[in-house]
Amino acid sequence: MEKLFDVVIIGAGTAGMTAAIYARRASKTVLLIEAKSYGGQIINTPHIDNYPANPGISGYDFATAIFEQVKASGAEIVFDKAVNIIDGKIKKVLTENGEYEGKAVIIATGSENRKLGVEGEDMLVGRGVSYCATCDGAFFRGKKVAVVGGGNTALEDALYLSDIAETVYLIHRRDGFRGDEATVENLKNRKNVVFVLNSRVTKLTAEKRLKSIEVTDNDGNVTEIEVNGLFVAVGRIPENQNFSSVIELDPAGYAVSGEDCKTKTPGIFVAGDNRAKELRQLVTAAADGAAAATEAVKYLNTI
Ligand code: NAP
Repeated sequence: MEKLFDVVIIGAGTAGMTAAIYARRASKTVLLIEAKSYGGQIINTPHIDNYPANPGISGYDFATAIFEQVKASGAEIVFDKAVNIIDGKIKKVLTENGEYEGKAVIIATGSENRKLGVEGEDMLVGRGVSYCATCDGAFFRGKKVAVVGGGNTALEDALYLSDIAETVYLIHRRDGFRGDEATVENLKNRKNVVFVLNSRVTKLTAEKRLKSIEVTDNDGNVTEIEVNGLFVAVGRIPENQNFSSVIELDPAGYAVSGEDCKTKTPGIFVAGDNRAKELRQLVTAAADGAAAATEAVKYLNTI
């Protein structure tokens, strides 16, 4: 494989893959580096209803269709984790297993699951604690589960799990949700969904597997709830830490940039959920990919 590319893109989610397609359409050589598997966050979503043209498509089918388009475009793809970027006229992207060079770099690394931070959480992953209802929900058929969070992910997870589990406790630290009202209404109509509001999960009890959770409400009252599964859906953390020497981060760790996806470093761009912006959706991830690649191509024409 050539080591010097016009554009090196880090992250093969919707933003990064869209950027690859746009850069290839401008006849630039492209390397797409992905640490895990293509698709990013959307790969685990069962139905996508808010992306134009194909309502109901699964996240897997959606991501696979883009990935096939990327492959057909002639972009090179490597599975490796980018750990640093060294700036210069030629930028070096250091990975766990090597080093690649790009005249421009687009960081489209997305975000990772935020943890609850309760003792024992890490040890119980795969033994009752999960961050992906659609991946692990089927293991809890006819059982009791809890979902923590107040955003669309938690609401949609609770809805999904209510078709599988005996009881779904939806635990949120506030009175109201930040997710869509329509989904909240839908959940209220489910007989097996129990709302546990103004409350936090404060302890996990396990014997090999999760057995119960302790929930403490905002007045300090403590309740023990027996559950086999705990689905944590409390948001995500942008994956920018490895690149903080070349991009500015806001206090929450998102990469600061305008709608043109430019960063403080000429030739380095950000796209998708790791960028500071109002709306993080598939459609805005794709839009970022297009904008970042277009700006990268403009940049390449100036050097
Ligand atoms: P989110 O909207 O950031 O919500 C995270 C939730 O977790 C918030 O309710 C927050 O509480 C709570 N939280 C954060 N830290 C916590 C902690 N330590 N303990 C307990 N609760 C905690 O995250 P998200 O639901 O993953 O959604 C991310 C983005 O994707 C959003 O823009 C969402 O709309 C979008 N999304 C869209 C769809 C769709 O359109 N179909 C589906 C899924 C997600 P507070 O409310 O108190 O801050």
